[in-house]
Amino acid sequence: MRFYRATRFLFPNSLRLRMFAICFVGTHVPLFALIGWEAWRGAIGWTPVIVVLIAMLAGTAFSLAAINALLQPVRASARALRAMSDGKAAPLDQMDSRDLMGALIASVNRAATSAGERMRELGEAANRDALTGLLNRRGFHALIEGGEGEEERPGGTLALIDIDHFKAINDDHGHGAGDHVLRLFAQRLIAGLRRGDVIARWGGEEFLIFLPATTMGDARAIIDRLAGESRMEPVAAIGGCAITFSAGLTPWVAGHPHEAALLRVDAALYAAKRAGRDCIRETAGMTLSA
Ligand code: GH3
Ligand code: MG
Ligand code: MG
Repeated sequence: MRFYRATRFLFPNSLRLRMFAICFVGTHVPLFALIGWEAWRGAIGWTPVIVVLIAMLAGTAFSLAAINALLQPVRASARALRAMSDGKAAPLDQMDSRDLMGALIASVNRAATSAGERMRELGEAANRDALTGLLNRRGFHALIEGGEGEEERPGGTLALIDIDHFKAINDDHGHGAGDHVLRLFAQRLIAGLRRGDVIARWGGEEFLIFLPATTMGDARAIIDRLAGESRMEPVAAIGGCAITFSAGLTPWVAGHPHEAALLRVDAALYAAKRAGRDCIRETAGMTLSA
């Protein structure tokens, strides 16, 4: 690095010109010495000097173009690293070369691959709830809003589920038992719903479910079945009690802003809690277009 820094005064903005200048001076010293010696002796023939100068110009043009071409992998690597720092990992075309450039491209590609994997893992982790492994709010929004395009996504029904008297579980059996119940409940939701249904942990003991292409009637039947199964399955960690929950349902029409649907489903859940818990309430809201 010391030589690199020391020669920075030569073309500080162009490594290509700096490399050329150093090579030029290094390789032309004998020629200039010969011309100088011949001129001092008075024996110089001007025709060979002119021929040499023309050849030198042609050689200079060729050398500059060749150095430029040889530095392309460095430029491509710099671009790839810049893209990586912007969060876009794009590997370069691998070169079948064992020299410095081959090693540089291979290293950049290794860095791009591991950075890409790391970014995917972090993106995935940022969208997941650590306790249950379900989507979190961010993940739910990303899935509903992003990717395939809202026009293609069918409408359906949103269900917001809240475990009843969950605070008492924590108070009576400890936070660990509460966590266990949340994990178990999440597993039951996954097992009891279809693959295309979107399940998210919406808050502490609240779960939001999007049932695509499902009418309110069908959604009610599905959530009712889950409630029945939950009631029938005692949980050892909480003294053999069963888990009950309250739920709100609302239709969500494809292409409509889901914020309004979220407000409606929250209101429906609140109505279920006010109705005494362990029940389902729904909002009329909009009707689901098939
Ligand atoms: P309700 O029937 O009205 O829903 O009452 P609730 O007790 O279920 O609801 P409340 O909002 O009063 O209490 C929720 C509790 O959930 C309080 C909070 O400490 C607990 N909680 C939130 N997140 C977690 C968690 O990750 N693990 C555990 N163990 N408890 C949690
Ligand atoms: Mg609750
Ligand atoms: Mg709650």
